[in-house]
Amino acid sequence: MMIEIKSTDIFHVHTYRCGHAEEVGDEEYGIKAIELGATGIWFTDHAPFPGDPFRGRMKYEGLDGYINGLLHLKEKYKNKVDVHIGLEIEYFPSYDRDGYYRELKSKKALEFMALGQHMAEVGNDEYSFSWGKEELEEKECLVLCDAIVEGMKTGFFDVCVHPDRSFRRKKLWDETCSKIAERIWKTAAEGSITLEQNESSKRHKNHYRKEFWKFHDCYSEVEIVRGLDAHFLKELKPIIT
Ligand SMILES: [Zn+2]
Ligand SMILES: [Zn+2]
Repeated sequence: MMIEIKSTDIFHVHTYRCGHAEEVGDEEYGIKAIELGATGIWFTDHAPFPGDPFRGRMKYEGLDGYINGLLHLKEKYKNKVDVHIGLEIEYFPSYDRDGYYRELKSKKALEFMALGQHMAEVGNDEYSFSWGKEELEEKECLVLCDAIVEGMKTGFFDVCVHPDRSFRRKKLWDETCSKIAERIWKTAAEGSITLEQNESSKRHKNHYRKEFWKFHDCYSEVEIVRGLDAHFLKELKPIIT
């Protein structure tokens, strides 16, 4: 599904619930967005998984509170800024088989899901973050991209954030990287999925890959959005600047 993000919107904002963002209320982000003259603000906090097996994300029992809190904000500021309610989440096939993404999709107030593949499920209850340095350097981009492609094909996701971060362990961009990147672009084009150029990635070595974004010339139908990945109030600024 195509989501329409305006160039004057603020896209990709986290909240205190994930545990590694500023301890301020959602309303302060809303107020700051209005002060900045933004037309919309798109919240994408890190989604939980049932049982809370991973760090760096909201607790499963806090999910409805997150959605309801933002619904309240949306109503309160409806004449000033459009508040959009979303989640940033990885695609893990076992959770798909258990119906978790379907469960999330069934939440009416949740407007969109952003695929943010920070790690991949690589075996039975095994994730790529358990790998050693060598294994990561050799295979991380491959398993992350496999998960991104598989995830995008499910139709659950509207946007894929920082797809090029998958190549962060690749010091040199080679032919293999290009082949993997093209699979992402092709799948995004087929599924009308927006790809995000992540401002935070630009501040980390090898996280933002201009070689990846060159494929836009061949897949110009794919929408690109610039996202902030804001974890602090001071990181808020309209996309257009
Ligand atoms: Zn984060
Ligand atoms: Zn993020």
